[in-house]
Amino acid sequence: MEKLACAAPDYFELGRKLFARECALVWAAADLAQMPGFLAPEIAFAGRSNVGKSSLLNALTGRKALARTSRTPGRTQALYSYALGNHPGGADICLVDMPGYGYAAAPKELSATWTGLSQNYLRDRAALLRVMLLIDGRHGPKSADTETMTLLDRAAVSYQIVLTKKDEANALERDTILAAAQELIANHPAAHPRVIFTSSRSGEGVGDLRAEIARLLVERGTRRADDQR
Ligand code: GDP
Repeated sequence: MEKLACAAPDYFELGRKLFARECALVWAAADLAQMPGFLAPEIAFAGRSNVGKSSLLNALTGRKALARTSRTPGRTQALYSYALGNHPGGADICLVDMPGYGYAAAPKELSATWTGLSQNYLRDRAALLRVMLLIDGRHGPKSADTETMTLLDRAAVSYQIVLTKKDEANALERDTILAAAQELIANHPAAHPRVIFTSSRSGEGVGDLRAEIARLLVERGTRRADDQR
């Protein structure tokens, strides 16, 4: 009998190819009415201000200034969507940069804009596949992060914790922060069990995050595992 080919897909390579594709800003929206309809499946990136979100988006896409680093807090908050792979069939995926929350003016609470704009997006956006929730790998989860997780649980959105700034934490700190993240996940049903530790500065974990996103697209049937593009 003929053997079925069932080698596991190389998600790392798929992710590398996916993120090597053309990438451009396709929309920016300060409220839901400004958002276009479905263009491609969306992966949103959320986290406290200064967590390293812009740097990670730039590292993922191999751009220096796709997402502006350290956008001035207090400016009009908006969601920014970047399409990857703009070909005749449409984009492969959109990366949505959400406003940072928990800025110094109200460090313990999510800002009103974040809860308004972002909450509406999380609740209503059918294109949204997963939220990557960025947490500072030097300090671990803060109250604003756990509040966000509760909000994501309530919105029934699938999300995954991505730790940042791995280069600044020593081995002991990394273990402690990872354990804290795992403990949080155990108490939050919509959280994905895998935690990815990244550094935009050293590049550590960036390939793993690309692979995770490629795996998600394949598992949800929006991209084929043998897609060579
Ligand atoms: P955002 O506000 O979440 O978009 O954060 P930024 O990307 O603007 O980064 C905030 C600060 O953290 C900046 O000073 C970055 O240089 C720094 N930063 C971002 N990523 C890393 C990283 O991987 N390692 C280190 N050491 N610093 C980082």
